[in-house]
Amino acid sequence: MEDKREKLKNFYFQIKDCMECDLGTTRTRFVFGGGSAFAEIMFVGEAPGKNEDLQGLPFVGQAGKILDSLLNSIGLDRNMVFIANVLKCRPPNNRDPEIEEINVCKKYLFRQIEIIDPKIICTLGKYSTQLLLNTDKGISDLRGKVFEKDSRIILPINHPAAALYTPSRMEVLQKDFTRIKEIMDAGYRIPPSCIKAGEIAGMEDNQVDMDKTGEQLGLF
Ligand code: SF4
Repeated sequence: MEDKREKLKNFYFQIKDCMECDLGTTRTRFVFGGGSAFAEIMFVGEAPGKNEDLQGLPFVGQAGKILDSLLNSIGLDRNMVFIANVLKCRPPNNRDPEIEEINVCKKYLFRQIEIIDPKIICTLGKYSTQLLLNTDKGISDLRGKVFEKDSRIILPINHPAAALYTPSRMEVLQKDFTRIKEIMDAGYRIPPSCIKAGEIAGMEDNQVDMDKTGEQLGLF
């Protein structure tokens, strides 16, 4: 039977020349993601930046260095996890991803998750958090909480790039990585305090229009 590594490799060859949205025409390199096909922890960022686009690898710039140091601080390195993005190609000038681009590209991320089948997905920043939790709530509302979706843990954390501009965010990131370590040490057991992803709309006073969000992201 084809193992996860083979499946992931074959999937890469299937999609690496994708031209399904305009970003295919402006990218330098397609950025599939990288790490172990057998990873129990997956990190999902937003989209490749300049360095990632040039090298075809995820998180290789300054934000990548921060991610590496955070991983090292809990005894991990990037070969023990899998790192991907919502979009596989760089938006020009690092502009924000557009909803249409996310809607076309998200199937690749979902397939990567299906193949790797991680125990935890750490969503780095707004776009991956909103996509995987199917909400339009901001990252500041969701960070620090632990969610359960499809029998796995989703942990929204800030994008490491946030610490480049606001050094105090590094402490928050470190705290979140300590939480990852605690979950690892507990055998990836889903904590009883976990919030089911479908309950997000009711968890704060500020109600979310889930139908609208789902329609925008095309998830329903
Ligand atoms: S961003 Fe995604 S959908 Fe658009 S061309 Fe790249 S791989 Fe294809």
